[in-house]
Amino acid sequence: MEIVELADRMWRGDKSTSTGHPLTATGAIAEIADGAAFLPAFGNCSVFSTDDGLFMVDTGSAILAEKMHAEIRGWSPDRLNCAVYSHGHVDHVGGVDIFEREAEANGWPRTRVVAQENVVGRFDRYIMTAPYNQIVNRRQFAVKGLLWPTSFRYPDETYVEELSLDIGSLGIELRHEKGETDDATITWIASKKILCTGDMFIWTSPNAGNPQKVQRYPREWAQGLRRMAQLGAEVLLPGHGMPVFGNERITQALEETAEYLESIVDQTLAMMNEGIRLSDIVSSVEPPGHLANRPYLRAIYDEPEFIVHNIWRLYGGWWDGNPASLKPANDRAVAREIAELAGGPSRLADRADALMEVGSSEAQRLAGHLIEMAWLATPEDSAIQGARRRIFTARAEAASSTMAKGVFRWAARESSGEEF
Ligand SMILES: [Zn+2]
Repeated sequence: MEIVELADRMWRGDKSTSTGHPLTATGAIAEIADGAAFLPAFGNCSVFSTDDGLFMVDTGSAILAEKMHAEIRGWSPDRLNCAVYSHGHVDHVGGVDIFEREAEANGWPRTRVVAQENVVGRFDRYIMTAPYNQIVNRRQFAVKGLLWPTSFRYPDETYVEELSLDIGSLGIELRHEKGETDDATITWIASKKILCTGDMFIWTSPNAGNPQKVQRYPREWAQGLRRMAQLGAEVLLPGHGMPVFGNERITQALEETAEYLESIVDQTLAMMNEGIRLSDIVSSVEPPGHLANRPYLRAIYDEPEFIVHNIWRLYGGWWDGNPASLKPANDRAVAREIAELAGGPSRLADRADALMEVGSSEAQRLAGHLIEMAWLATPEDSAIQGARRRIFTARAEAASSTMAKGVFRWAARESSGEEF
């Protein structure tokens, strides 16, 4: 079975998550157990055949809905009885409509959609902040013209902590966990020992720090992963990336991801409790060294240092501990002052270029400050625009994560007034 082989290669690190990035991998539907199929997409979709139609965990994004529907129809002609959203992110909730239109045309009963109750508030918020979400998602994924939806298929039924479903004699256990989101559901099919994790596991270091999105819950996420490891699953179907087969590998993946998060939470809280300022905490927290090379924990989507910021926001206030930033001057006023002290904005830009030549991460970080100040001091200067574009392009190329690449690429384009 091709998918088992691919999953095995991903696990062994033989196929890199950078070339087969779990956020972009799509493919053909594959039967992974009797009556159970896995469809790799953005996000993944898991489909179960029951005595009374299909049961689905996640439905993919609206952009891929037609393709995914066709794949599923290649596996089974049965009506979609029930879909569960693993959480309310748009890449998991966009695929119901096409099944509903089909049901209407065939005179089948309407699909039942089930989710944790916080999905409702999420959809309300997505509508309230649609333009903002469009901007940050264009920036995060570096996709020009990405359109943010303004209507959603709300769930028909919600639950708070746990819910058991019986769909056509298939016993299904839903449990709410908090992790990347406050509305996550994990799905456990005990009869098949199949666990659908949603985005609690996605083959990258946990997206617990996303700089442009709402609060994440790293401590609760780790607790949820440890609970999942107790289930005795033989197949793990994630929200993104390949399945994991075999209890030993599943336990390792879940427990090590938990350990990764716990370590970052513990280090950050210990320093917060000592009254250390955010900047010093961000500079010193490191994820556990022995997990650095795990193929499912590479920081290709989010980054551990962003998780530190999220923990600070969750347990502390917005102030970073620097008295100057409590009631700061406007960034542009600070930039003009520093530029004048330096002998002009071009001196800052020249020094930024020189620091980029040094090449270390620390030098690149400093270069970012200096070129941003030069540009804020004289945003209309074309030489400085060019330097800013060059420097943030280089930083995007040097960055490992989607999040950092997206912001740096946006800054590069903004330098010359390019739309995104
Ligand atoms: Zn997702």
